[in-house]
Amino acid sequence: MRTYTGRCHCGRVRFEVTADLTPVTECNCSICARKGYLHLIVPPERFRLLSGADDLATYRFGTMTARHHFCRHCGVASFYVPRSHPDRIDVNVRCLDGVEIAGLRIQPFDGRHWEASIGTLEV
Ligand SMILES: [Zn+2]
Repeated sequence: MRTYTGRCHCGRVRFEVTADLTPVTECNCSICARKGYLHLIVPPERFRLLSGADDLATYRFGTMTARHHFCRHCGVASFYVPRSHPDRIDVNVRCLDGVEIAGLRIQPFDGRHWEASIGTLEV
């Protein structure tokens, strides 16, 4: 495990996360597919928001469980609270500094059939 820094595009939202990036998850649900989100789910003690709490807006839909945060200035969704683990933080690996996406093991999650798939989610 190592500590990564991450941020939104404009840099108002900044955070640190301590994790190991194997695996990361790609979900095909209606929102993740559109955003191209790459998921890394960590317990809250391994995530630290450094700045930007007041710059976040939140989108909710469906079961209203997930809290889809995004920067209200640049629109980038760098982390959020996932439906699968509402007590954890789900970081968008694409927003981490210095991570080569091509080198990661990406595990697919069939979020379009969420109820049938949730038991297979490895975090
Ligand atoms: Zn921003």
